[in-house]
Amino acid sequence: MNLILLGPPGAGKGTQAQRLEESRRLVQLSTGDMLRAAVASGSEIGRLAKSIIEAGKLVPDDVMVEMIEQRIDAPDCADGFILDGFPRTVAQAEALDELLRLKGKRLHAVVEMAVDDGVLVERISGRFSCAACGAGYHRRFRPTAVEGVCDRCGATEFRQRPDDNEETVRTRLAAYHAQTEPLLPYYRGRGVLRTVDGMAAIDDVTAQIGTVLAALATD
Ligand code: AMP
Repeated sequence: MNLILLGPPGAGKGTQAQRLEESRRLVQLSTGDMLRAAVASGSEIGRLAKSIIEAGKLVPDDVMVEMIEQRIDAPDCADGFILDGFPRTVAQAEALDELLRLKGKRLHAVVEMAVDDGVLVERISGRFSCAACGAGYHRRFRPTAVEGVCDRCGATEFRQRPDDNEETVRTRLAAYHAQTEPLLPYYRGRGVLRTVDGMAAIDDVTAQIGTVLAALATD
């Protein structure tokens, strides 16, 4: 099953993608994670993307499409993938349609995680993740079970994203509304859009996504 999780920064796409990865044989493809890895490695793409990410703007479409094209071909994606953070523009969505067509794959659903802007700044500024395994947490909404110790791998070092600060979040939200929101009518028109209430508690959202996916199986 091939899915897209769509929603503003802080909607919980990464959290739900990680859960889907654990509960189903799907691979999370987070373009944000791929770009951060490129920045950390100092590659050409990383050098290009660093200042764009820090400013909260979008990396050029051609760079992103190429990155995804290489990734969805990998053998681990054979049973399906969850796109988290891609596509972010109509041009990326059109390129993805073409890529999937050429590869004989299809998109089963686009799950919109609807969240009001008002809660996003608090959600994002409290985020942190394990420096070793990348598991995501939130100071208030999803702390580690034992303070300072990762639930998943036991590591004790954590990091916060440099773009998870209030000023950059506002630019990221503006980019979402201007450039990514047009994907909602795009996918609605193709009959694949499903919406869940991203304001609900994390377990509730997981349950709602489960219901959406179960209904797909019987469509
Ligand atoms: P994310 O982790 O999904 O919030 O992405 C972090 C940052 O990476 C974004 O604010 C953009 O600067 C960049 N980025 C991630 N995915 C894309 C994409 N599909 N298109 C353009 N820029 C992206």
